[in-house]
Amino acid sequence: MAANEKCESTALISDIVYHEYTHGVVCHVYEWMLKPYWEETGSMNEGLADYFAATMNDDSCIDDFKYDSDCLRDLKNNLKYPEDYSPEPHAGSGVFSASLWDIREAIGKEVTDMLVITAMKEFQPQTFSEFVTALVTLDQK
Ligand SMILES: [Zn+2]
Repeated sequence: MAANEKCESTALISDIVYHEYTHGVVCHVYEWMLKPYWEETGSMNEGLADYFAATMNDDSCIDDFKYDSDCLRDLKNNLKYPEDYSPEPHAGSGVFSASLWDIREAIGKEVTDMLVITAMKEFQPQTFSEFVTALVTLDQK
């Protein structure tokens, strides 16, 4: 999208670049992709894209445009499953990405990033519960 006085170019916003790039990584890492793009698999796809954008920028606020200081999504949130969960992947991702961000704040960026990418590669989790099990299993190794 071209920039103008009301909107900067989204191609120059690192949150968006990292988010979209992570979708490519997810597609490559998951042998069967995270499908369908709805409910938990879609939410995990969006949540992973947000998590890696946030961790790369060391900022939980996703998409804080220069002209609008509000976050599109913030990984520092109090969303809870199942009461705050929505099957729409962007809306539903907040529960999942916030849990990854909480882990990152507790044990650090490097370990969490490694655990998350390894969980994806080795366990191919298809649900939130399977992802948690994969993280715990890897952490105990
Ligand atoms: Zn996305």
